[in-house]
Amino acid sequence: MNRNTDFIPFARPDIGRGEEEAVLRVLRSGWITTAGEAKSFEEEFARYVGSPHALAVSSATAGLHLALEALGVGPGDKVITSPYTFTATAGVIRHLGADPLFVDIAPGTFHLDPAGVEEAIAREGEKVRAVLPVHVGGEVRGMRRLAELAAKHGIALVEDAAHAFPSVTPQGFAGTLGEAGVYSFYATKTITTGEGGMVVTKSRQAAERMGMMRLHGIDREVWNRYTEQGASWRYAVMEAGFKYNMTDIAAALGRVQLRRAGEFLEKRKAIARSYRQAFARMDCLIAPGDSEGHAWHLFLLRVDEKKLSISRDAFIDKLQEAGIGTSVHFIPLHIHPYYEKRYGFRATDFPVAYATYRQVISLPIYPAMTEGQVRRVIEAVLSTAEAGRRI
Ligand SMILES: *Cc1c(COP(=O)(O)O)cnc(C)c1O
Repeated sequence: MNRNTDFIPFARPDIGRGEEEAVLRVLRSGWITTAGEAKSFEEEFARYVGSPHALAVSSATAGLHLALEALGVGPGDKVITSPYTFTATAGVIRHLGADPLFVDIAPGTFHLDPAGVEEAIAREGEKVRAVLPVHVGGEVRGMRRLAELAAKHGIALVEDAAHAFPSVTPQGFAGTLGEAGVYSFYATKTITTGEGGMVVTKSRQAAERMGMMRLHGIDREVWNRYTEQGASWRYAVMEAGFKYNMTDIAAALGRVQLRRAGEFLEKRKAIARSYRQAFARMDCLIAPGDSEGHAWHLFLLRVDEKKLSISRDAFIDKLQEAGIGTSVHFIPLHIHPYYEKRYGFRATDFPVAYATYRQVISLPIYPAMTEGQVRRVIEAVLSTAEAGRRI
């Protein structure tokens, strides 16, 4: 459809020579699935975020599933989370036979409202087993309050940090603030392994459970306890586990990306700064605030339809015509058919999430963008806003 030859895609991974060489090294080694590269990636990642345990997994979805399972979430339980997220966050709750308990986001943010969380805990009591906040776009908000609430009520705090590597707070890296945190290395995320994820936890017990459940529920250690030298062909299946390990091919890619994480972050920060400066003068554009420690995975621009003669959807079409790829984060879960039908939701049940969704446009923000491309995005956004401005 697009006739513009220099289309700026919404996202594009930055894969260099280092990544190519690392992957080739694994391909030529004769061992391409989980082994030393995955272990090294885990150690390096754990050191980076300052967590005692890190487990490399096949996706963040897998990691969230493992973390909730290890923390004892099961049938009949409820897990408080935000409707303003990707379906993976709530889907894994359903995999365990539990139900998501959606709480609306706080006005002016993309984040769970701690006051709403407190009310939900008061209302649902013992059924609430965990709180699962999402660091939307790489911005962390409200975590101090959520941590206090979780501690007070004996509820697990698990972070969906899929967007939040590396986001920093005064309490430490996002993902290390609760019982467990899960990062995504999907192709569009801040660092990538193609498909992949990482779970971190402070709990040795949870790490052991996740380590076993990640690979078929197999425990090789068990045999070592009974035999002098555990023969390598022996293993014991302790549970009906999952197949969620990360390959060494992916891990080798991830290790190089991890070393470049700081460089990537600086580039995303610079793009965010340029966008914020450029959009500040238009009152129909609401740019995200520049909070400390933001990972800038997404640049979530909001357009104020009351001050424009065109809709958000038409705004997106205009940008597409100008050769600029965008996305929308997120279509809130409660208006997707599955959640709508299962829980009988209406759009207005989570009014802030719904209203925010109606305004939001995610602009391209990634280290492989050139200055010229950043300028073109700015010009297209400004001229679209200019042309659609109500007089
Ligand atoms: C991408 C994403 C996930 C899932 O990550 P995968 O690695 O693709 O499984 C989970 N939560 C959020 C908020 C995401 O954006």
